[in-house]
Amino acid sequence: MTAARHDVAIVGGGLVGASLAIALDRLGLDVALIEATPAGALPAVFDQRNLSFAEATVNALSALGVMAKLRAPTGAIRRIHVSRAGDFGRARFDAAGYGREAFGQVVVARDFGEALEARLAELARLIRYRPSRFVGFGDSDGDTRAVRIADDAGERVVHARLVVGADGSQSGVRDALGIGMVLHDYGQALFVARLHAEHAPDGTAWERLGPQGPTALLPRGDRHYGLVHAVDAGEADMVAALDDAAFLARAQAAIGWRVGRLLAVGPRSRHPAMRVVADRLVAPRAVLVGNAAQSLHPIGAQGFNLGLLLAAHAARRDEDRRRTLAFSDGLARLTADGNPLLRPLRSLGLLALDRVPSLQAALVGGAMGYRGDVPALCRA
Ligand SMILES: Cc1cc2nc3c(=O)[nH]c(=O)nc-3n(C[C@H](O)[C@H](O)[C@H](O)COP(=O)(O)OP(=O)(O)OC[C@H]3O[C@@H](n4cnc5c(N)ncnc54)[C@H](O)[C@@H]3O)c2cc1C
Repeated sequence: MTAARHDVAIVGGGLVGASLAIALDRLGLDVALIEATPAGALPAVFDQRNLSFAEATVNALSALGVMAKLRAPTGAIRRIHVSRAGDFGRARFDAAGYGREAFGQVVVARDFGEALEARLAELARLIRYRPSRFVGFGDSDGDTRAVRIADDAGERVVHARLVVGADGSQSGVRDALGIGMVLHDYGQALFVARLHAEHAPDGTAWERLGPQGPTALLPRGDRHYGLVHAVDAGEADMVAALDDAAFLARAQAAIGWRVGRLLAVGPRSRHPAMRVVADRLVAPRAVLVGNAAQSLHPIGAQGFNLGLLLAAHAARRDEDRRRTLAFSDGLARLTADGNPLLRPLRSLGLLALDRVPSLQAALVGGAMGYRGDVPALCRA
């Protein structure tokens, strides 16, 4: 049997791989999407996590016809309020001050997965291999790379002029290319859940920085909040075992009373906070994108945003990659550092952010996805 040949083979149909498949199909390319999850199921990454999409990401996903497929309403982030427990400083950002309706939109990953799936199903040209696992590279001719994939029936080979590794932070493609990575464990676990509070969301995203890391409430579109609560890794098992009432009391203590009493919490999911940075992004006829290229601490809500931009134009996004890595990492380390000597500095930093428009503008522009040379797809 002759092996199939494609312009591009994308390994991994998660947030970035599926979005990239839609973007490349639009360019008329013959694309193969290789995903380990079987047809009829969504990859596990499309869970209850709340994704905050930067404006540039919303622009790109609208142009790709994905936003129109979302069934649940999105939650607009019109204001951001950041404070630190025990410190006097705080920073407030208002989209109206930048001539914008919103900084971005909160989308539940599950809804996003279903919307991507609905859009992928419309692409007549796209070839999907699922369930199929990437197992390695085979002998390549000069024009293509051979990709070995396996399912229950055995192994097969597909050829592609370009192979895209979009298979997440533990990327097998990255390993098979011999590309190393640097891993940093922040020593935190993040609990994510849907929350109902006394006061419904009013477009404000609340972020409170505590001794164990950040706790955030994102304004969802369904009158609930998306909670992200960081705890020390050593306490994670204990927190996972709490009943709903005890978990709510813990979240209340971490976020304070800005949205009134926290009333109810949905199922909780737990995620390690890791930073994984690949040594290189490209190899002959291969490129790494999304979490395979870099996984960030979710505090900056930038992982998918950056991944999509990078996928849109890997080489041109180097500046954005460096700046976003530094931003998310610096924020995660500073906010998790309980050193009392740093406290006045952090308070002054928050005050400066609150008062100095040029500082705010630089930060907000980056958070909205406008850094460096922005691809046309991401502009309104
Ligand atoms: C709690 C939390 C909150 C977050 N919030 C935000 C946010 O607000 N904004 C934001 O931009 N980002 C956020 N992120 C980050 C975001 O989830 C990731 O950046 C994003 O999932 C990366 O997408 P990806 O496609 O690169 O990888 P993944 O989504 O991990 O997808 C990888 C895919 O590859 C498949 N795969 C793996 N191995 C193989 C193989 N051998 N063969 C075939 N297929 C394979 C998997 O099944 C999966 O479908 C958050 C992350 C967490 C944990």
